[in-house]
Amino acid sequence: MSLTRVLIVNRSYPSAGLELLKGNSRIQATVLPYEDYEPQSLKEIKQSVKGVDGLIWNTRYRLTGEILDIAGPQLKAISSTSSGLDHIDLEEVKKRNIRLGNTPGVLNDAVADIAVGVMIAAARRFKEGIRNLESGEWKYGVTWTLGQDIVGSTVGIVGLGGIGQAIVRRLKGFDVARFIYSGRSEKPEAKTLNVERVPQEQLLRESDYVILACPLTNETRNMINCTALRTMKKTAVLVNIGRGELIDQEALFEALREQCIFAAGLDVVTPEPLPKEHKLLSLPNCFIIPHMGSATVNTRNAMAQIAANNILLALDGQPMQFPIN
Ligand code: NAP
Repeated sequence: MSLTRVLIVNRSYPSAGLELLKGNSRIQATVLPYEDYEPQSLKEIKQSVKGVDGLIWNTRYRLTGEILDIAGPQLKAISSTSSGLDHIDLEEVKKRNIRLGNTPGVLNDAVADIAVGVMIAAARRFKEGIRNLESGEWKYGVTWTLGQDIVGSTVGIVGLGGIGQAIVRRLKGFDVARFIYSGRSEKPEAKTLNVERVPQEQLLRESDYVILACPLTNETRNMINCTALRTMKKTAVLVNIGRGELIDQEALFEALREQCIFAAGLDVVTPEPLPKEHKLLSLPNCFIIPHMGSATVNTRNAMAQIAANNILLALDGQPMQFPIN
């Protein structure tokens, strides 16, 4: 009996997931040891994908029709080790009738922690503080240190999904005055969480904190543009844990430089990695971390296990743990 081949295109795929795959004697699992950000990596991925039955994919490279064609018609199941799916050509996957899954839910808490982290860091001027401290310019009695409060604020969540709801649950302890959200549909959980649904324009106008927690789609790309930034309060803080392309970064740079808004706290940017010369990094009121949302040991282990289960179940003809419709 020939073995079922599963390729893992995720260099940092935790052993917790690999063990699950290797525990099945009918599966031959291979982790591709490609180098991140090297031009030959995509070539290496294309060479290795030929003839595989299952594929575990991460967000570094786009999964295109070309790669699916190279893989071949025997490819039956794909799982991304992510909640977002903007790096996958969904139409091409659907056209070929390949089962697709992702790993949502288990990362909600870790990403929500990071959202609150960058929110406080931006609102309370951590970047300027650290720069002052490390350059030996720490002085008492200076007013530049004054930031924005969370207590009594209005927090607006764009996308009240799993992560958005986990952010609200955390911020309940901060004595926020009002939570609002915008999104395509009414969320039943909003009632229990006491979050009011408003149009996006109203959310931008009334929020002290605007937190982006929605997927990147054709509809949401550049949703935070010059007009949106000018609608926001001058004292507002923008937080993005969704995807970098939700924001028009040129417009954000100008808005932060001209102090049209108070600050931004970003876990995600475009491109990733952001070159160290990038002008956003020069701004004192732009606090950026390198896409660390789901980066905890337990969360990444859980994501790897779900991705492995998605593949094992699909190859066994059963529904995936987290299928994409
Ligand atoms: P989710 O549970 O599917 O929630 C996404 C929410 O966004 C849904 O409530 C959805 O509402 C809403 N939404 C969709 N289109 C919208 C629009 N045009 N305007 C406003 N809201 C919209 O997904 P999740 O797990 O919370 O993840 C959300 C996103 O976070 C992912 O897609 C991914 O890009 C990003 N993410 C980042 C990290 C990180 O490390 N920073 C980690 C995981 C995920 P409807 O149901 O009404 O469409």
